[in-house]
Amino acid sequence: MTDLSRKIAELSKRRGFYSQTAEAYGGVAGFQTFGPEGAELKRNIENSWRKKFSDSLGHREIEAPTIMPEAVFEASGHLDTFDDMIIKCPECGTSSRADHIAEDHTGIDEAEGLSIEKIEQLFEEHNLECPECGEGLAGEKVEDFNLMFGTSIGPGDSQKGFLRPETAQGIFAEFPRFKEYMRNELPFGITQIGKSYRNEISPRQGLVRVRELTQAELEHFIDPEEDKPPIEDVEDVELKLYSRQEQEKEDGKVRKMTVREAVDEEIVESGWIAYYLGLAKQWYDSIGVDMERFRFRQHQNDELSHYASDCWDAESKVDDKWIERTGFAYRGCYDLKKHHEHSEEDYTVFKEYDEPVEEEVTEASPDMGYLGPEYDDKAGKIADRIQEKAETDPEAFEETEIEVEVNGQKYSIPEDKCNFERKTVIRNGEHILPHVVEPSFGIDRIVYTVLAHSYGEDEVDNEKRKLLHLREEVAPTEVAVFPMMDKDGMGQKAEEVSERLRDAGFSVKYDDTGNIGKRYRRQDEVGTPYCVTIDYETLEDKPETVTIRDRDSTEQERVEIRGLEEELSSRL
Ligand SMILES: [Zn+2]
Repeated sequence: MTDLSRKIAELSKRRGFYSQTAEAYGGVAGFQTFGPEGAELKRNIENSWRKKFSDSLGHREIEAPTIMPEAVFEASGHLDTFDDMIIKCPECGTSSRADHIAEDHTGIDEAEGLSIEKIEQLFEEHNLECPECGEGLAGEKVEDFNLMFGTSIGPGDSQKGFLRPETAQGIFAEFPRFKEYMRNELPFGITQIGKSYRNEISPRQGLVRVRELTQAELEHFIDPEEDKPPIEDVEDVELKLYSRQEQEKEDGKVRKMTVREAVDEEIVESGWIAYYLGLAKQWYDSIGVDMERFRFRQHQNDELSHYASDCWDAESKVDDKWIERTGFAYRGCYDLKKHHEHSEEDYTVFKEYDEPVEEEVTEASPDMGYLGPEYDDKAGKIADRIQEKAETDPEAFEETEIEVEVNGQKYSIPEDKCNFERKTVIRNGEHILPHVVEPSFGIDRIVYTVLAHSYGEDEVDNEKRKLLHLREEVAPTEVAVFPMMDKDGMGQKAEEVSERLRDAGFSVKYDDTGNIGKRYRRQDEVGTPYCVTIDYETLEDKPETVTIRDRDSTEQERVEIRGLEEELSSRL
């Protein structure tokens, strides 16, 4: 572990942000339990996301189960392709991510998109070793490993299910319900915050690569021809973009430009993606991610998922490593098309034209009274083929015999048994598969970034101090209230003040344990912006007063107790 990540891990465990799950039983890799401070910080970040990406955009939030039947993941493609490359050490038995070993020792940045053969070749060429025991792994087999956790639903001959590897499928699979709810009106956005599960081969320490994670995903369903993003809302937001072209250069640079410039110069191909990059930049800034250690990186061609034409990641740096926090993908109609084909339901949206359109159509209604006796069990299939042919190749019906093929066998059907006709119909609209724009946020990694980027050390009264400069919006506690000592009525007064502040809507902690200096340090370490202290002067002063201490400057100011709510509001 590097320096900052080690400090964050230490502070997080000691102060109740997060720690490894089931440590009493030796711990389990890839699972972290959020303690009281961490759970509040995470909840605040989620609420802030909800406000920015759901409520204020008019999108609607849903909640789908974390277990879904196999068929959903067959359709989505996860069953076949949600894999990482694994290599097993013959000496110590450790399984490792083959692409990660390759990245760490060959100077290749992104090995995930390479083929198995290429990775095996790299192991040979570079004599790559087991990260646990140092055994040479050249010649060992690299295999695909599916990352989904399987389970069974119900007893006995039960149905196979999986814990969802992303929250998105819970939105896509229910699209027919949502489009009805939205009265078939595009565009609309559906959001979801919830747990996902990935059986990572080698989870990393802390919150960066975990097996149970929280995602905040937004699926924005649009009509690709009609719907344009409101770029003007974010056009002046400045982005730091690390484009594909720059990454390919020897001395590639991150370029600063506004959202508008990124769209005009076509650095970001999709206006929708550019729009969401702008919103995301604003949001990351607002929750206290350091913009000096933040950028958007475009996916290289070999990283691109087969469905996405342009993908960007929001990345932030902790110590010297850039880590992905959010993926922005223009997914086209890939997901809805898959579910439309695999399920029994209709995933299209009826798009009404401004004016009805006249259209010539060609169709056939084959004479089953003739086909049935003549072709027996093949009759239905033959009729289907004739109908298809009428739509796609109407000229064929100028002949006296129509040729169709069923299972490789050719059949000639007299034209007069096909009942072919051309007619004019009036269309009011058409069925289209909406396109999807998806910003997908990894909340655990964002919590980690906020902790790392707000971490600071300084010296107060010749004593070293650690603190978190958390923004008020996400800090677990806004105001801590202390009695100087819990005697002579100070404790009672402090409890009164806490109660009042809570009623006024502040998040408040009361603490009367230990000496006052230690209590300040404790609040500094969990990032509480202000401490209010009740002392002997409070009770003597007419009108009553308290001190407000600022976390970052440690300066204290005495203010009248009766205006305390207003005073804190003006600061927070
Ligand atoms: Zn080994």
